[in-house]
Amino acid sequence: MSDYYEILGVSRDASTEEIKRAYRKLARQHHPDVAGVASEEKFKNITAAHDTLSNPEKRRAYDMGGGMPGMGGAGGPGFGGFSDIFETFFQAAAGGTGQRGPAPRSRRGQDALLRVSIDLSEAAFGAARDLEVETAVVCTTCQGTCCQPGTHPKTCDTCQGRGSVQRVARSFLGQVMTTAACAVCGGYGTIITDPCIECSGEGRVRTRRTVRVNIPAGVDEGTRIKLSGQSEVGPAGGPPGDLYVEIREKPHPVFTRRGDDIHCSTALPMTAAALGTVLNLDTLDGTQEVDIRPGTQPEEVVTLRGLGVGHLNGSGRGDLHVHVDVEVPTKLDDDQEQLLRQLATARGEERPEARLAPASPGMFSRLREKFGGR
Ligand SMILES: [Zn+2]
Ligand SMILES: [Zn+2]
Repeated sequence: MSDYYEILGVSRDASTEEIKRAYRKLARQHHPDVAGVASEEKFKNITAAHDTLSNPEKRRAYDMGGGMPGMGGAGGPGFGGFSDIFETFFQAAAGGTGQRGPAPRSRRGQDALLRVSIDLSEAAFGAARDLEVETAVVCTTCQGTCCQPGTHPKTCDTCQGRGSVQRVARSFLGQVMTTAACAVCGGYGTIITDPCIECSGEGRVRTRRTVRVNIPAGVDEGTRIKLSGQSEVGPAGGPPGDLYVEIREKPHPVFTRRGDDIHCSTALPMTAAALGTVLNLDTLDGTQEVDIRPGTQPEEVVTLRGLGVGHLNGSGRGDLHVHVDVEVPTKLDDDQEQLLRQLATARGEERPEARLAPASPGMFSRLREKFGGR
């Protein structure tokens, strides 16, 4: 940071009048309207020096080495202490971060979300899938520098590599400095004169890529699996974003999933329910024998332990529940009817009495399921 007296070319004991004279002369010479945008920085320094030294109070504070009250020293490189205050003020007012310096050209890539449909057995046991993704990878020609090989970005003349330019604005506070991104370099502080032909100066190229995702057992509809750093790389070779894989579970024609348990129902002839039998059932684990005990009732549930969906992040599996649907014959030939009448007689059931009982709550939920009422 140059000294304010040096900037104005006056001695340390110069009078206020001498300071103003020096300022007027220099301002005419270096005003951006006259000398072009390149002189903006110089003009800003001249103005800052004049603002401070022409005000006796500010000049005293400056001479004491404090710049302005509340300022620790003379401010950052290339910036006058006085304008810093307003800069900070305006940045704060605009919700800015107060960050200074050129914006980095390279940024992190975007996250991406991909949906994948799996069937129940993949959810139960887990699966590995290869997914084709539209993505971007670092340009191999420029290695993400965005420049043609052998060339380099050049420092922006307009902002001298700072990425921002200062403007003098008049407001109720008087003459203040505002900071704006440099329009010439887009705020980067550098200009790429020879953009890489391969990636048009983006530093990355679009491509299709195969990503392997390991789907663990126990995933459910809507489960998201995060693949860190598997999304596109950012502009100018920035770090890659994350790829999220969201699970869609295709409905199974037979099995309904409730948590990690699965349910199905099987029709069972009345005689088999009464006498007991062994059913062969196609499960996710192949054909399994299901023991139907003699005297099995309608709506009874036979549970096969551990034949459900694997628990996510744990060991063991849910159960398979087989709901028994006892079928009463609707058509009997003469012989069958005779046999049944004989059975009824033997059991004393020719004219059974009504045995009233309250309806169970479960009955209503079954009615709802069947007829959709409420
Ligand atoms: Zn390139
Ligand atoms: Zn610039």
